[in-house]
Amino acid sequence: MHDVLIIGAGPAGLSAALWCDELGLDTLLLEQNEQVGGQLLSIYGPVADYPGVKANNGREFLERFSESVGEADFDLWTNVEIESVDLKAKRVTLRSGEALPSIAIIIATGVRRRQLGIPGEREFVGHGIIESANRDRNEFAGKDVCVIGGGDAAAENALLLADVCPTVTLVHRRKALRARPTFTQQLQGQHCITVFPESVVTRILGSDKVEAVEILRKDALQPFQMAVQGVVIRIGVEPNTELFREQLQLDDQGYALVASQHETNVANVFAIGDVSNPLAPTISGASGAGATAAKVIASRLSGSR
Ligand SMILES: Cc1cc2nc3c(=O)[nH]c(=O)nc-3n(C[C@H](O)[C@H](O)[C@H](O)COP(=O)(O)OP(=O)(O)OC[C@H]3O[C@@H](n4cnc5c(N)ncnc54)[C@H](O)[C@@H]3O)c2cc1C
Repeated sequence: MHDVLIIGAGPAGLSAALWCDELGLDTLLLEQNEQVGGQLLSIYGPVADYPGVKANNGREFLERFSESVGEADFDLWTNVEIESVDLKAKRVTLRSGEALPSIAIIIATGVRRRQLGIPGEREFVGHGIIESANRDRNEFAGKDVCVIGGGDAAAENALLLADVCPTVTLVHRRKALRARPTFTQQLQGQHCITVFPESVVTRILGSDKVEAVEILRKDALQPFQMAVQGVVIRIGVEPNTELFREQLQLDDQGYALVASQHETNVANVFAIGDVSNPLAPTISGASGAGATAAKVIASRLSGSR
């Protein structure tokens, strides 16, 4: 029996594990991927807003983060497949059948990129679907590209690609972009960027790599095809709460609802980081929530032991 099971080893889960160890709690951290770090592994630009640490990218940031975490003495299992979680009973069951009981559970499962669910989206991963303009823009220099989405991430990727690509077409569903004003102003100043509002991409086409996208404009009856060699998809994120859906109170987008100390509607079950924070998802917020949850659990356990 562990004192605490933490699900997810991004910044929130790692910080919680560090603090649980510091506070003398017997802790097991479970991560589905081979590597810890969560979204840090997909940050290819600088991380400059975590007080005291400046890093050129997420992996460099993770190295610094791991220096502290590596000294802590908690159990970490990676490549873990969770079959089910009984939050009331505080028990996680793995696909292997192994049951892991605990006194408290911390959910730190973060978010994943939302998908379009259109033909070509999966097939062309690594063959023209651009993972990150920051990382891949040299590869796509001189090529025509399409960016799908209307928020900050879509606008930022379009601007980065506009430095090296002859044409960048930004396709988004709504009438107006949701990106912050500094980005929208910069977009207007870029002659190679064309914005298609009230439009959707219905297919990504090609033989063995991306060759075109099919775009349907709101007022048109038929879609049209446009030749591009690269596509960036940035249509937002969604929380990883499927495992807990029937047991946790969630908001209408599926984010876990928590009280001020990050406790959910189930006693001694906490949800920290992006999975419960749609408004201000940051590394510092996730780390701070990990510390708070660990401290609350430690103070309760010290009172009951
Ligand atoms: C491109 C990009 C740039 C960013 N730039 C910045 C920045 O400059 N500054 C900043 O503060 N923030 C930035 N962020 C946001 C920041 O990365 C997140 O706020 C932070 O990573 C949230 O941490 P988290 O631990 O809550 O979730 P995540 O990082 O999403 O980690 C969740 C972890 O849980 C694991 N998991 C999920 N489901 C399960 C399961 N069923 N079983 C086991 N494990 C599971 C996942 O594999 C993952 O490792 C950026 C994000 C992106 C994508």
